[in-house]
Amino acid sequence: MGHRPAVFIDRDGTLTEEVGYVNHPSRLRLLPRSAEAIRRINAAGLAAVVVTNQAGLARGYFSVDVLRATNEALAEQLKDAGAHLDGVYVCPHHPTEGAPPYRTVCDCRKPAPGLLQRAALELDLDLTASAMVGDKASDLAAARAAGCAAVLVRSGYGAREEARLVAEGRADLADAVFDSLAAAVPWLRARLLAAPPPSSSSSPSPPPSSSSSQ
Ligand SMILES: [Mg+2]
Ligand SMILES: [Zn+2]
Repeated sequence: MGHRPAVFIDRDGTLTEEVGYVNHPSRLRLLPRSAEAIRRINAAGLAAVVVTNQAGLARGYFSVDVLRATNEALAEQLKDAGAHLDGVYVCPHHPTEGAPPYRTVCDCRKPAPGLLQRAALELDLDLTASAMVGDKASDLAAARAAGCAAVLVRSGYGAREEARLVAEGRADLADAVFDSLAAAVPWLRARLLAAPPPSSSSSPSPPPSSSSSQ
């Protein structure tokens, strides 16, 4: 298990507007205050990692090149706003639609935890000290399966998902619910940067200081 706490962030409906399948980079739009939220996650010393199901690839709605360009546009828009993503992890699969190799039962399509586990290995992340933020129950289930805290946001499909989970008596799938990613940041900081137990021999490193006034 790695060392660094992370905030795993769903893309569509959480970080960006939910517009159905994003089949061109120009359709990607950051939600209000998303860049600010990522900046504050960066400033807290938490890794910011996007984990996204993109079954539109398996379904043939867009190509690998379009998906790559879209995620590059996302990173570029955030960078222009002073925000940094530590990683973007994509599940391109669907269990029944399209053709192989993308038509497959995989271990990375949320609610499976594969993307979070792969990111943890590659980026030295501590899953038990991390959280996943998303607008669907599948995001919350992926968080649970990976051992992370689970945060539901009401953007995208989130308000509908919250009502459904309450109606089904499953509201406890979420550890917390907020109107937006930005609104969740204070909770994430408090939860993920909590002091380690006294038995821990290593001292926590302070978050990186920034010379920027922003
Ligand atoms: Mg979503
Ligand atoms: Zn997958």
